Amino acid sequence: MSEAKVIQCPCGYTLHGDGDDEVVAAAQEHARSIHDQELSSDQALSMARPA
Ligand SMILES: [Zn+2]
Repeated sequence: MSEAKVIQCPCGYTLHGDGDDEVVAAAQEHARSIHDQELSSDQALSMARPA
């Protein structure tokens, strides 16, 4: 069972994922494509909150 998670990006965008892996992947993709930044999974995970 995976728990829905959200990451609030400092730019105001909210990333949603079904479980840690998905929300981390979504945040990394967002950071890369929108901010041209590499986000580590630890950094992304530390920002994840239960949806
Ligand atoms: Zn952003």
